[in-house]
Amino acid sequence: MTYLMEKPDSFAKLKVLGEVAKFDVCGLPSMFAKKQKKFQRFRFIYPAVGQRGRCVRLFKVLQSNACQGNCFYCANRKNRDFARVTFTPEELSRLFVQYYSRGLVDGLFLSSAIVESPQKSQESMLKTLQIIRQKYGYKGYTHFKVLPGTDESLIREAGRLADRLSINLEVPGERYLAKLSSTKNFSRELLKGLKSIAKFDKEKPLKAGITTQLVVGAVDETDREILNLSSFLYQNYKLWRVYYSAFMPILDTPLESRPPCSPLRELRLYQADFLLRWYGFSCEELPFSREDHLPLEQDPKLAWALNNPDRFPVEVNKADFWELLRVPGIGRISARRIVEKRVRERITRLSQLREMGTVVKRARRFITLDGKFYPSSKEIPVDEKGEQLFLWEEL
Ligand code: SF4
Repeated sequence: MTYLMEKPDSFAKLKVLGEVAKFDVCGLPSMFAKKQKKFQRFRFIYPAVGQRGRCVRLFKVLQSNACQGNCFYCANRKNRDFARVTFTPEELSRLFVQYYSRGLVDGLFLSSAIVESPQKSQESMLKTLQIIRQKYGYKGYTHFKVLPGTDESLIREAGRLADRLSINLEVPGERYLAKLSSTKNFSRELLKGLKSIAKFDKEKPLKAGITTQLVVGAVDETDREILNLSSFLYQNYKLWRVYYSAFMPILDTPLESRPPCSPLRELRLYQADFLLRWYGFSCEELPFSREDHLPLEQDPKLAWALNNPDRFPVEVNKADFWELLRVPGIGRISARRIVEKRVRERITRLSQLREMGTVVKRARRFITLDGKFYPSSKEIPVDEKGEQLFLWEEL
């Protein structure tokens, strides 16, 4: 079913392999990623968010799309009829360095389909990375995707050269993976790979940590199951990030008729994930419905606050940092500023909160200032998509 392109030049390969690399996410939720299009001249230049909200242009590409795997949702599955191309390590490393030295990209995200075997594909990717680092002396950011079934020795070798390692777990558990792939194994390959990465990271911390990706809505998993897994991964494997990728059906795959996952569901998962990592929430506290999903109509922090009226109002001059963080409209930066400021002066006006970055129209009905309550006759803003949560979220 597959065909090989006849003598494609490097740029033709890049167009194909950059296009299919879009299925690996490592940046903003898809709702916001669309707004970053202005940074994206080509598909293979991917806008991620770096330190202090700066846009980082990643050269994001697969080494090859000639996959031996046949996962039911994947654009690269071997039964699909489309162009197959493969970079040699020399070719890909040279291309990347050309783009980097012309100032067109800031870092590399390298992944691959499984050609012949995970071992062979991983060796080829590793060779690319070695050439980039050792021959060209590149010292910048690299994100290296570990393929399912890769030997621990290769993972360790990649860890010595890359800033970030990741492996895609795809779904929260074995029984869901069986609905997506007849060849991948959750515990023996995916989780085992993640454990090897975590072991390496413990001995020699990766500069940009470990990440994984979950596809959302390709099977009937619940948000609770997804976030339980994320919570487990943050606690036990010290992951930096779990990325959530809303399922999109791809033509000519067994899942082509399955409806796409709503980008809003993906966004709510990112917001809840943020609460787990930075706001001191446990998974059990998240506002799941009876069906174990997050509400779509409100961000999870606001939904939690509305479900827990006994926790409010919070007195801004007395509450500790973690209590302030639970107030809708108060983020980490404004909570820290509030705690610092009130050492010197009392906070008595909404305008003071506004100056410190609080979204007052959200926060006012959940707080008191010096014992005074400032309710608003207006409705709580239904949904501003929680964009503030992601402003400073890195890579
Ligand atoms: S192994 Fe990876 S690239 Fe190959 S079909 Fe499965 S998900 Fe796609």
